[in-house]
Amino acid sequence: MKRSQLYAHKLLVSLAFFWVLNHVYADEPDRKIRIATTVPPITNIVENIGGASVHVVGIVPNGMDSHTFEPIPADAKTLAAADIIFVNGLDLEIPTIKLAEKVKKADVTIVHLGNSVLREEEWQYDFSFPREHGHPNPHLWPNIALTMKYAEIIRDRLVELSPQHKDAFTDNTSVYLAKLKQLDEAIFACVKSIPENNRKLVTYHDSFAYFAPRYGMKVIAAIQPASFTEPGPREVIRIIEQIRHEKIPAIFGSEVFPSKIMEQIARESGANFVDELSDDELPEKPNDSFIGMMVNNMTIMSEALGGNPDCAAHVDTSNLVQ
Ligand SMILES: [Zn+2]
Repeated sequence: MKRSQLYAHKLLVSLAFFWVLNHVYADEPDRKIRIATTVPPITNIVENIGGASVHVVGIVPNGMDSHTFEPIPADAKTLAAADIIFVNGLDLEIPTIKLAEKVKKADVTIVHLGNSVLREEEWQYDFSFPREHGHPNPHLWPNIALTMKYAEIIRDRLVELSPQHKDAFTDNTSVYLAKLKQLDEAIFACVKSIPENNRKLVTYHDSFAYFAPRYGMKVIAAIQPASFTEPGPREVIRIIEQIRHEKIPAIFGSEVFPSKIMEQIARESGANFVDELSDDELPEKPNDSFIGMMVNNMTIMSEALGGNPDCAAHVDTSNLVQ
């Protein structure tokens, strides 16, 4: 059997299986609402809002590059079984959304959170997401004002889907929004603690495009090219000169995208290389949450740029459901 035939066959078997499953569960009022999500930050936010009455499956594994991620047959099963599907949108999960449209139940909605929160004229095109490629920067969630809107949309769509759980979803969201507000204020305080001349970001992965304008930082450069390969030598020299010129004390990488080029840029520009920022990989316990990921980011960023590394230490990073 050709690979594509095998895939189609596996898909049909999965679909038949889930048709049976759905009809078995249809008369069971206590069954959990099945939710499919994509990247770990969104999965974690949905878990916190959905609480005990939902079963959430995140398609993109923690620590995997979400931009080049291709779903596997097991993901088709998850999407086919889902009662609702939450994605970021803004072209982040194109292969997963295409698959979802094919396999989902007819009455199931795919909620594009980013597209619901930002109008097209507010989309950012920049270093790794240039306008000529046609795909906007999709990283809305490091901007906590936008994340709060994600939370409200998730609440509203879950209430629509399952009105009998309205009180629980509303209460969970209130608790979660209060935590996000605390995080948002902490991020402002962190940036304020960094000397004004150092409030500049040079990152490998281009994930702070919506973060920077909210909190008063400037993204000087994001090294990763739009093709997700490595930059050419001329571009590297230009960035090294810019880092020297702007006297930037540290440049940032992430564990999801290890890059030898960043080490070279750091060595030749005299900046420290801090390889630990994260845009979608959630940390290990006890900070194993989206909020924990952002607290880690702020601790790392503040320390490297001469600010107060304890600026976000008081933020509640716990999850509603442990
Ligand atoms: Zn990313």
